[in-house]
Order: sequence, then C-alpha cells, then structure tokens
Amino acid sequence: MSKAKILILGGGFGGLFTALELAGSFDVTLVSDADHFLFTPMLYEYLSGEVEAWHIAPRYDELLDDNVHFVQAAITGIDLVAQSVSLAGRESLNYDALVLAIGGVTNYVGVEGAEEFTLPFRKLSHADNLRHRMVATLDRIPPDFAPLDARREATFAVVGAGASGCELSTKMADLLRDAFQRRALQGEPRVLVIEMGDRVVPGMGDQIREFVEDALDKSGVEVHTNTRVVKVTSGELTFEHEGKHESLKTAGVVWTGGVKMSPLIEQLDVEKSKRGLLVVNPTLQLSQHVNVFALGDIAFYPDATPTLAGTAQLAFQQATLAGRNIKAYMEGNEMHTKHFEELGEAISLGTERAAVLTGGKAFGGALARQARFALYTSRLPTWHHRLRVGASWFLGAGTQMKRM
Ligand SMILES: Cc1cc2nc3c(=O)[nH]c(=O)nc-3n(C[C@H](O)[C@H](O)[C@H](O)COP(=O)(O)OP(=O)(O)OC[C@H]3O[C@@H](n4cnc5c(N)ncnc54)[C@H](O)[C@@H]3O)c2cc1C
Repeated sequence: MSKAKILILGGGFGGLFTALELAGSFDVTLVSDADHFLFTPMLYEYLSGEVEAWHIAPRYDELLDDNVHFVQAAITGIDLVAQSVSLAGRESLNYDALVLAIGGVTNYVGVEGAEEFTLPFRKLSHADNLRHRMVATLDRIPPDFAPLDARREATFAVVGAGASGCELSTKMADLLRDAFQRRALQGEPRVLVIEMGDRVVPGMGDQIREFVEDALDKSGVEVHTNTRVVKVTSGELTFEHEGKHESLKTAGVVWTGGVKMSPLIEQLDVEKSKRGLLVVNPTLQLSQHVNVFALGDIAFYPDATPTLAGTAQLAFQQATLAGRNIKAYMEGNEMHTKHFEELGEAISLGTERAAVLTGGKAFGGALARQARFALYTSRLPTWHHRLRVGASWFLGAGTQMKRM
C-alpha cells in the first residue's frame, strides 16, 4: 500500500521542525525556496562575523535524511480544493495532508520608496548585502576627513525599534565604531533607530526594556520614538516628528518595520484574522479544510501567550503539536491541543552584551551573552548540528567578530 502524502510548505521553524517530527512515518515532502534553514535569532551575529553561515544556516540535505524528500522551488499557488500546490518551473505536487508554514514577508506599510531603497533583514543574503554596504561606506572615508564629514558619510538608519531593530542597530553601531578606531578615522559613526511608537521594544516587558535602553545608549544609537518614516530615496530618508518633516542623508536604511502575509496566503479563501493570518483550530487545522494544518507566523492560534505571536519560539513549539496531530489525523486517532507559553526571551545587544529573561527574572552582560548562545544552540535543528556548533563555540572558533 502506498504511504499517505504529507506536503510541508516552508522550511523555517514551523516547516522544518514538523518535517523532523514526521520523518519516517509517511511520504513526507518539504518544499522551500532556499537550500538551507535559517536560524534567524542569530542573523545579527552572522552580520558581525561572530558566527558563520554553517552555524546558523545548515543545508536541508544535511538536516534531513532519506525519510523526507526535499524540493527546492518557489511555491506559486495553493489550491486547497484540488489539493494541489504549483511550483515555479516544476510539476505541481498533490497531497493527502498539507502543512502551511511559509512565514511572513517584509511589510513596508506603503511608505514611498521603502521597498526599492531600504535593505531588508530577514535572510542570509540580506545580512551579506548590509555588511557589504557598511564596508563600502567605510572604504569611502579617508583618515583625514573631518569628524563631522566622516559622521555624515557613515550615517545608517534602522526603521522599527522592535527587538529586531534594537538588536540590529546596537550591532551595527558597535561594528562601525570598532572599524572607525581600527581604521584611525576621525569622529564617530551615526546609527539611528526610528520608531513610530512611544518606546523601544513595545512587545517586551519593562524589565528587559531597561537592558535594551541601556545597551542602545552604551552603543551610541540615537533613538527617535514617535517618529514616522514617510519617504526613502537613494541616499535620503524623510521622517515626520510632531508634525515636522526632516530629511537626512544616509549611507543605508534597514527596514525592520514589520511583517505581513505573503500573497499566497492572501489568496486563500478561508477564515482569517483582522491582520490576515489564517485562523486555526486548537489542533492547528483549518476548520474548512481539516487536512490542512497551519503554523508559525501565518497562523492565528487562539491559545498562546499574546507576546509569542510572530516568534520562532511559537513556530518551534507548534511544530511538535503539528507532527503529533498529523499522525493522529492520518491514523484516525484523537488529536491534541496545547497552551503555548513563553520559553523566555533572549536578545543580543551589540557585540558585547545581551539580555535574557527567564523565570520572570532578567539579567544582562557577558553572562547573558553566553546564556543566550547556549539557549539557542539547544534549539538548533538536529543533535548532530547542535553538537558541531556547540563544540565550535566552546573551542573559541567563531566567537570573535569579523572586523570591518
Ligand atoms: C532577523 C530576525 C530575527 C529574529 N529573531 C527572533 C528571536 O530572537 N526570537 C524569536 O522567537 N523569533 C525571532 N524572529 C522571528 C522568527 O524568525 C519567526 O517568527 C519564525 O521564523 C517563524 O517561523 P515560520 O516557520 O512561520 O516562518 P519562517 O521561519 O519565516 O519560514 C518560512 C519558510 O518558507 C519559505 N518560503 C516562503 N515563501 C516561499 C515561497 N513562495 N516558496 C517557497 N518557499 C517559501 C522560506 O524560505 C522559509 O524557509 C526573528 C526574525 C528575523 C527576521
């Protein structure tokens, strides 16, 4: 008898970990447009060279054994009625059960020029592009440049002061400052973080915010709250604060201002939340199509701590439930539900600091940096990969930033 076909769309936290749960049970296929998984929480350390690509972006062919077929292709359409998925340049795939885990896409909220002229920060290639931009900027500044000219030339802005914007801006500021010293440039670089809300890391608790504010200050990041970016052009950013518009020349603007649903999800005719997420049952199934399970950033799950929305933590935890429930569904057994809780928050703040919130207590400093690394190493996809990364960190390789 042929095995039931389980098709998993997306190889991020939700999709990859579901595939690992199901490996060996059915005819499992994982589709992703990249050839590697990406451990996004450490993309900042990849930017600074503290970790290498193999640490945080292992290839699927290393992670998945023969029990899971991997197809590298862009998904172009999902037909829930015909139970078929179209792929660019390949034959469509059909399924008995489908897992939707394609994550979100950058949300430019309609700001003029943002999509064209800002740098996104969601993929390995985005971090490479940003690093190249920073190095090219530094290379343009001669040591005899007056301090103010050097500062004007090395001005970078990060849009959005959520966890991502704060982690990135502190990292960029530390890297640029270190490069100024090493290259004997005069003055200091300028890094701004621009936030339309009234405080940084709005989704996080006050305890951890204190560490974030302190780190932004120590890294010399200029924080502009209640400020809205209204236009971006090549080399210039315009923002509005208290009704006044101001323009600023920049060497680069990085957009971390939010996530929205991909057009593939938008076109599905099923129940959605106000933000366009797929509303799933507590079993992770879509109510109109019970052979379809959705998780991670695209799913609105009713029973999770609200601060978990849009996090790797949630997708990672949901993958275990998805794996168990798909097995139960295919075998006609009872499915499970689960309440998802915070596993603790960890945030990297520049090249020297981090903050960790665990068991209701926040701590920072060098110890937090080590704790964050240990926590994240334990969440890497397979024991084999965890061991390699842990050993490399323990032996001191890959812990130094790669200087600019
Ligand atoms: C820089 C950064 C740092 C982050 N840091 C943290 C953190 O510290 N802690 C935390 O909890 N969360 C963090 N997050 C959020 C976290 O990454 C997401 O919540 C999580 O990845 C969601 O998992 P997912 O499986 O839903 O989607 P993703 O992990 O985004 O995976 C989606 C997958 O689908 C594939 N895909 C998408 N569209 C297509 C298509 N059309 N065709 C083929 N394949 C496609 C993608 O390539 C990817 O493999 C961070 C995110 C970013 C960008």
